[in-house]
Amino acid sequence: MSDEQPTETKSYEPKELGREHSNKVVEFINRKAVSPNDACPVCGSPKNTVAHTAYKIEAQPAEGVPFSGVQMPLFATVCFDCGFVRLFSEMIVNHLIEQEEASKTTATVGGADGD
Ligand SMILES: [Zn+2]
Repeated sequence: MSDEQPTETKSYEPKELGREHSNKVVEFINRKAVSPNDACPVCGSPKNTVAHTAYKIEAQPAEGVPFSGVQMPLFATVCFDCGFVRLFSEMIVNHLIEQEEASKTTATVGGADGD
């Protein structure tokens, strides 16, 4: 009997996006969207969803595009009415969400002298 080697796959295993994180991404995209409910650019339908999977694609690092190595992590939105899929940079979206949350905290905290 030979020892089974752990299978080393080169392919990326998609990871699941937690519901809370997924909701944050939905809210972020809706805030950024030019049209109400982030209508699909192909068919105009507002029936889009953020896929509950985070993806990665092979990519060469580009100046000003933050990702490490040769894989760019991505979020995807899917249109229920035509199937069009759009991809968003996970690192940029997460960074902007963190910035917004930090500025909210700064805006709501403070003012009290405390004693
Ligand atoms: Zn569509």
